[in-house]
Amino acid sequence: MQVTEVQQRRDDLDRLMDLKVRAATRLAYDHNEFLHGLFKSAGINPHTDISGRSDLLKAYKKGVRTSSQDVAKCYADYAAQLPLLEIWSSGSSGKPKKFLLSKDALERWNRGFSKAWSLLRVADGEKILVFPAPPPHMTSLSYSLTPFLNSPKVRTLVFRVPSIPKSLAAEEKERLAQSYIDMIYDFNPDHVSGAGWAMDAFARMLVSYGLSMEKLRVKTVSFGGDPTPSEQRKSIGELWRAEPFDAYATSEAAMVGCECHSHSGIHINEDDIFLTTVDPQAAEEVARNEVGKDLCTNLYNEGELPATFIINYSHNDNLALLSDKCTCGEVTMLASHPTRDFKKKPIAGFGFDMKEKKSLVQRAARKVRRAI
Ligand SMILES: [Zn+2]
Repeated sequence: MQVTEVQQRRDDLDRLMDLKVRAATRLAYDHNEFLHGLFKSAGINPHTDISGRSDLLKAYKKGVRTSSQDVAKCYADYAAQLPLLEIWSSGSSGKPKKFLLSKDALERWNRGFSKAWSLLRVADGEKILVFPAPPPHMTSLSYSLTPFLNSPKVRTLVFRVPSIPKSLAAEEKERLAQSYIDMIYDFNPDHVSGAGWAMDAFARMLVSYGLSMEKLRVKTVSFGGDPTPSEQRKSIGELWRAEPFDAYATSEAAMVGCECHSHSGIHINEDDIFLTTVDPQAAEEVARNEVGKDLCTNLYNEGELPATFIINYSHNDNLALLSDKCTCGEVTMLASHPTRDFKKKPIAGFGFDMKEKKSLVQRAARKVRRAI
């Protein structure tokens, strides 16, 4: 590919992002009291003062910034007039938060997940076994609604981490586990994706009942949801005997980014999100290759109507921006694998406590054993 062509694609993406930053900030200013107040206090009117990402960063420095405790204040004033889907964050790093998703937000959501599948090079006719978290959490939505998964080109088997009731007799437990194993053999997935803990714990439980990974030919395992520690990605890849791919997806921002086959980092989904890294104390961007806190703005085209605004929002995750050049040909910015500082122990298997990651697998296995 010609260098000029690559540069042209990057320039086009930059223009698109600035266009969408203008649309998203103006809509938020006009249709959300809390964000309107933040912009007003900063002396910024998005209609006249924000032409793109650099101006949005100036607004951040003047105090236009949001975090998890602000989500409930960031619903659009027109939300009640729209058909809405309501989801909740898992609460892995704090109190669960409610998000209102409009049709346009869902389309944005689906675009991001479809992009991630294309980075994994899921081919026509291939089969994807998915392990979402139970509803109403984020991965249950992402795997149920992504049109790519529902297209005739791929086949999907959704496993909702079924439990085996404790009250069953041993032979009944055995029979039930064997039925799950038979389903997986029959489906014979090319790709496995899901919440890390589910892919880990459920698979280990089935292996204990005789599931043989040698009989399967899984090419990739990919992780959605909260940041998945590298040791765990590696361990699950080894468990499924497949190449592990990280994905960074959240209830707030949907698909933030996904790893490609070059494994050079996470390709940020810049068509739909502006993500940069900052030092919150200094209110400054950090340089490339330096780890800072994430700062995200969900991007929308003019005329689209999100029901929850995510503007200059931080998940409080740690990551670094790396480069917008990758051997795969993508021109989107690469970021390092994010990490999250969990404030408390995970609830019911959602999220992972970084301090206890060594015992993660054992704890997950114990949890499954207790459930059966
Ligand atoms: Zn790449």
